[in-house]
Amino acid sequence: NQVSIMDIDFINMTKSEFLHDHIYPRLSSEDKCFVVTANPEIVMRTRDEAAYKAIVEKADYVVPDGAGVVMASKMINKPLKERIPGFELTISLLEHAEAQGLSCYFLGAKEYVIEKMVPEVKKRYPNLKIAGQQHGFFALDDSSVTEEIIATKPDVVFVALGSPRQETWISKYIDQFSKGLFIGVGGSFDVLAG
Ligand code: UDP
Repeated sequence: NQVSIMDIDFINMTKSEFLHDHIYPRLSSEDKCFVVTANPEIVMRTRDEAAYKAIVEKADYVVPDGAGVVMASKMINKPLKERIPGFELTISLLEHAEAQGLSCYFLGAKEYVIEKMVPEVKKRYPNLKIAGQQHGFFALDDSSVTEEIIATKPDVVFVALGSPRQETWISKYIDQFSKGLFIGVGGSFDVLAG
């Protein structure tokens, strides 16, 4: 259930199959996991930057985010079942986390955006456990940010640092965590902030 597009292996599942057969079971067994939501820009970057390609290849799942990826799959006669936007995954994960008592950490976006977003999220998901929050304008090699996040023991870490920063941060630090779903969600915090 994969389709290779420009040498990147995309999952070929519906959003529902991906969540119910892979992500939710992995969350309940605390199985660490790295998800890349890849749009055409990300695919093009893997072609141009070998180091970035190696990072994307480290992901457990590369999800087709963006109509261009689905279009490309049709052109090579290996049509993907469904486009899975990162923002929709974010919403589904927030609902699931609230229902299951899983804690979420929010890493990324401008300081004023995250300060506006967290109260909005609390309003929308009143029973959600929020492990913590941190804006996205810090140096990637500043490990103190990571240490603070590790200490909160999050189940889900939403990483909204834009590409390639978000995938770079996840791949650099994921090994230091004992559990967690790590997903790059691009501009999702800006949308959630309203
Ligand atoms: N961002 C960040 N740190 C940075 C650069 C960007 O936290 O050093 C945030 C930015 O504020 C926005 C998100 O990353 O909330 C996505 O940024 P952008 O739209 O530029 O990236 P894309 O969604 O195109 O990958």
